[in-house]
Amino acid sequence: MIYIHVPLCRSFCTYCGFYSEIAGDGCKARYLEALTAEIRSSKGADPGPFHTLYFGGGTPSVLEAEDFRRILRALEDAGFGGPYAEFTVEVNPEDIVTKGPAYVEALMSLGVNRFSVGIQSLDDGILRWMNRRHDAERGLRALSILRACGVRNLSADLIFGIAGLSDAVWENTVRRLVEAAHPEHISAYQLSLEEGSALEESHYREAPEELCRGQYDRLCALMRQYGYEHYEISNFALPGFRARHNSGYWTRIPYLGFGGGAHSFDGGKRWWNTCRLSGYHRECEIISPENSKIERIMLSLRTSDGEEAAFLHRACREDILARLVSEGALIEERGRIRIPEDHFFVSDEIIKELV
Ligand code: SF4
Repeated sequence: MIYIHVPLCRSFCTYCGFYSEIAGDGCKARYLEALTAEIRSSKGADPGPFHTLYFGGGTPSVLEAEDFRRILRALEDAGFGGPYAEFTVEVNPEDIVTKGPAYVEALMSLGVNRFSVGIQSLDDGILRWMNRRHDAERGLRALSILRACGVRNLSADLIFGIAGLSDAVWENTVRRLVEAAHPEHISAYQLSLEEGSALEESHYREAPEELCRGQYDRLCALMRQYGYEHYEISNFALPGFRARHNSGYWTRIPYLGFGGGAHSFDGGKRWWNTCRLSGYHRECEIISPENSKIERIMLSLRTSDGEEAAFLHRACREDILARLVSEGALIEERGRIRIPEDHFFVSDEIIKELV
């Protein structure tokens, strides 16, 4: 699995705490130079067993098709060339509307077969409050452009649990999104206060727990009604459209990440680039057997597949496992243990008890 981080954005969203810089020609040139050099110098590294490619950010759609071509050439030179089983690009709706079908078609001709669109909301007031670049109408227009270009694997991101987001507006967003575009995949995240975000500095107070829980439960019910499988705490897919790349993270498959701020993992060691556009360096952490066990439990129990029962029986205290099973917080069946959907919302507490 290969991850390319694009730490460039046209503007900053109020809730975002990711490392990113304002995209300008100078920044982009420096970024591309450093990135392609880094990729070429990694020739011979092991990208793991899954052959997926994921451009995340930041905002990868600030790059032009020619920029993607240049990065793909570097990947090819390093021995990581396509075709890829899954090739995802995260895009901002405003970039899709502004650049139009020619841009989408150019990316598809390079092999992109999955677009992940940062819709976040279909309420103009909420989108303005988030400082997103698009409004609801342009969010939907982006999805219809992608569909008209023949994109058959669309993912849309949404955010809930915002103080000021009513249940009615939330439900309306989910329904309009599905009825307008029927995306194959939906990721929905509860808003959290990120360190360094504008929200944190504005002394925003997080929405009450009951409101977040209510909106999450409503989302789960709607997704079920529309035929989506709830396969990870924050992720829903139509049959056959689980995200392969992200599923690799949850099962701790090795991967290589390139670009300032990107992480890599080889099964026993994790390393990452410092957060700079260019001139970044690597830092590294050896994962101890104990931490490796904890990571495995934390990641696998986020998914509807859960974890091998035999592993959890070895790794966790039997009395705690038995109690969580008896309380319905865990289900053990067919050699696996998982958190049922009606306990996903409190999965952090369940996992904390186990580890
Ligand atoms: S949420 Fe995405 S688009 Fe917004 S500032 Fe963060 S990385 Fe950029």
